Amino acid sequence: MIKFWQKRAELGILTEDVAVEEELKAIQKEIKEQVKKKFAGSLAIRMVDSGSCNACEAECNALSNPYYDLERLGIYFVASPRHADVMLLSGVMTFNMTPHALEAYEQIPEPKWVITLGDCPVMQAPFEQTFAIKAPAENHLKVTHHIAGCPPTPLEIIKGLLEFLRKI
Ligand code: SF4
Repeated sequence: MIKFWQKRAELGILTEDVAVEEELKAIQKEIKEQVKKKFAGSLAIRMVDSGSCNACEAECNALSNPYYDLERLGIYFVASPRHADVMLLSGVMTFNMTPHALEAYEQIPEPKWVITLGDCPVMQAPFEQTFAIKAPAENHLKVTHHIAGCPPTPLEIIKGLLEFLRKI
């Protein structure tokens, strides 16, 4: 038992990267300030999947865990586009889903913004060559910001949200 604790004391903490933690804290602080300033403390996001492999959504789900804790910063994922400020669009624009994505966009009240998530909506992902795709998202919608990656990590997504908030 003593050997176990000696080894733990020598190795220190291996599960968390202190530098990343510090960077994340700074990002979270600025996001909270930006959301307060530009959205009165509450930014609602409607996620729309127009034909993804679901990996982008899985990474987004991680943003709700206690480590990233987006809700604490005032950012919420909502079920209805009518309650949203921003559409977060993932996946390629497939023939079947494009009308539904556009319909969801129409239902978001003004002012509204679109953020594309992952390489699919800009047609750089593995599915870029299939017959089922209409065109990149920017051909259908006014895209304000793009978060690249296949899939982007939760840290990249949270950084992308901050870049969007700085931009508007
Ligand atoms: S960008 Fe990559 S991870 Fe995201 S939906 Fe497309 S293929 Fe999947």
